[in-house]
Amino acid sequence: MTTSLLSVNPFSHATVGSLPLTPLSEIPAIVGRARLAAGGWKSISVTERIACLKPAAARLKMEAARLGGLSSAEMGKPLVEAIGEANYCADGFVAELESIAAALQPFMREDERTISTIHFEPLGVVAAITPWNFPILMLQQSVLPALIAGNTVVTKPSEVSPLVAHEYYAILNEFLPKDVLINVTGDGAQGKALVASNVDLIVFTGSRTTGAHIAAAAGARLARVILELGGKDPLVVLDDADIASAADFAARNSFRNAGQVCVSTERIYVDRKVARAFESAVVERAALLKLGDPADPTTSIGPMSSARQKSLVERHIQGALKDGARLLFGNRTQEGNFVEPTVLAGVNHSMEIMREETFGPVACIMEFDSIDQAVSLANDSPFGLGAAVFGADESRATNVAERLSTGMVGVNRGCGGAEGCPWVGAKQSGVGFHSGVEGHRQFAQFRVLSKKKS
Ligand code: ADP
Repeated sequence: MTTSLLSVNPFSHATVGSLPLTPLSEIPAIVGRARLAAGGWKSISVTERIACLKPAAARLKMEAARLGGLSSAEMGKPLVEAIGEANYCADGFVAELESIAAALQPFMREDERTISTIHFEPLGVVAAITPWNFPILMLQQSVLPALIAGNTVVTKPSEVSPLVAHEYYAILNEFLPKDVLINVTGDGAQGKALVASNVDLIVFTGSRTTGAHIAAAAGARLARVILELGGKDPLVVLDDADIASAADFAARNSFRNAGQVCVSTERIYVDRKVARAFESAVVERAALLKLGDPADPTTSIGPMSSARQKSLVERHIQGALKDGARLLFGNRTQEGNFVEPTVLAGVNHSMEIMREETFGPVACIMEFDSIDQAVSLANDSPFGLGAAVFGADESRATNVAERLSTGMVGVNRGCGGAEGCPWVGAKQSGVGFHSGVEGHRQFAQFRVLSKKKS
């Protein structure tokens, strides 16, 4: 029986390191330890919890290069981007703690007879099951709101990037009381066992299939869930769009992190009148990208995170080509886990590549003849995470954006909102959500305390 989890570099295929697998039989006891620790952690104030965690920011900053190096080695993203992610988490750490504390401040509501205060209490033990594509950021976004709300947390990071998660967890644990944050190492089996254990909230970011399994398992005992389940984000390019900026966005958002981003542009709908110009502009940009060693600072695209991910992306591309898509750029056979940035036109919704999440460096372009058709194509998906609309007439573009059935939509920009906005999916892209005042509060139990008005 395997007792350790090996982390393998998807570029060099060398072993990055290994960690002991958490035995499945130990998981209920681990959750039990977290529950015991919950009493003490809950008894201190939000301000004290913040004071406890704040010094971790400086330690994370000090270790950003090492954390970034591990992340890049484990999942293949360019080192510069991986260190950037670690620095972003360290730099934003204290502000994030403070915005969580602000969201958890009690507030009042009153009418003629009653005065009520809404308090935010801990839920108990939170399980955080996180992915490999932003292995530090996703962990931080799941763990901090849970901890500051007074819950104890058991994490189960992705088996693709266990070492960076373990190091992040170790840094936070330099400052936390014992058993307030416990890490479980393993794959889906450990995740499943954690979901089946006595946890009060499961926070999950990952695939729709796994999300459905988790929702079913949690539903059986009415445990709460926050599920962020990826997307198939559309980009709509209207006939008056600035072609250069629409193509900049399309290329950046289709190819960044080798397309392994939940809000990657996965479907592009372009007005037939500007389709040729837009296609050539995207191809031009794809041709500038350099595949290579993630450690080389000139590399723009590293390998896919795993052979499994590469074969999924290739299946989507080859399936589309077989069914009549036109290859505008890319798709040359690559060594190892690399997939060349690929631009396809003439795609349609009967193709898997326009229906299922690809999570690869592919731009798929389909033409439309009317705005109604563009809206109906963009909305023809069970996913509903992000979207973008590009058009020079901002009110016309906004009108199109308002008709899209996603949780987030950007006009002439990406879908992420201003500071303090929630990160939220519609339809099957999410159940519950995180970030912003409303998101932070989902990690807590609302309690309404009412008195008679004198
Ligand atoms: P991916 O295929 O991209 O790794 P998954 O959704 O399968 O995405 O995995 C995301 C996270 O969920 C990982 O930490 C993984 O180990 C975990 N996981 C996989 N299957 C299950 C499951 N049945 N229950 C709980 N967690 C799971």
